[in-house]
Amino acid sequence: MSSIKEYFSEAGKGLKSLVTGMAVTGKEFVTPKITECYPENRASLQIPDRFRAELTLKYDKEGHHKCIACGICQMNCPNGTIQLTTKMVDLPDGKKKRKLDKYMYDLGSCTFCMLCVTTCPQDALEFTNDFEQAVFTRGSLIKQLNYRPEPADDAPAPAPKPAMDPEKLAKIKAEALAKAAKIKAEKEAAAKAAAAGQAQEPNKPNDENKEN
Ligand code: SF4
Ligand code: SF4
Repeated sequence: MSSIKEYFSEAGKGLKSLVTGMAVTGKEFVTPKITECYPENRASLQIPDRFRAELTLKYDKEGHHKCIACGICQMNCPNGTIQLTTKMVDLPDGKKKRKLDKYMYDLGSCTFCMLCVTTCPQDALEFTNDFEQAVFTRGSLIKQLNYRPEPADDAPAPAPKPAMDPEKLAKIKAEALAKAAKIKAEKEAAAKAAAAGQAQEPNKPNDENKEN
């Protein structure tokens, strides 16, 4: 008798478990799907903006980036992922300036820690959310971030100073010479006067002799 009772008890538990499982399945059946059918839905795929896929330099509309080749990102990268080379260029005003030559980034060794982005003093870097980065060779993961042609330096060449009018220049020179001659003559006169004054009082005792 007890075995029959046990049998029905276990059958009841199994039925209850089955109903519970079917309830969970039924609920998930009507819940909106959150999985993505990639790559079929590539056109409508929504990747969060915060997703870090690839480091890039920020470019403005004119194709300028803000990197000043200071090397801080390279120094802060814990993996040696960033390699910069720089060059010295001549500016229109005759001065020299260090500029970025190549900004090489190895996506294969990047851990997406953001240290480079957060420490850049120029806010020149950002991460894109372009996650489709599959390639056939590791070398293809090394990318040059300053890939756009370098725009010409915007600093306009300083306008040459207009040459001074020759007559005006000659006048200024003559005035300067006259002024110098006058000062020299005054100095000579003062020296002569001082010498004449000393000649008139040859035996004037000094203060020490007076006291003695
Ligand atoms: S990206 Fe920023 S930190 Fe790196 S070299 Fe350029 S300016 Fe300096
Ligand atoms: S995110 Fe981190 S590992 Fe990647 S390049 Fe920047 S500093 Fe280096």
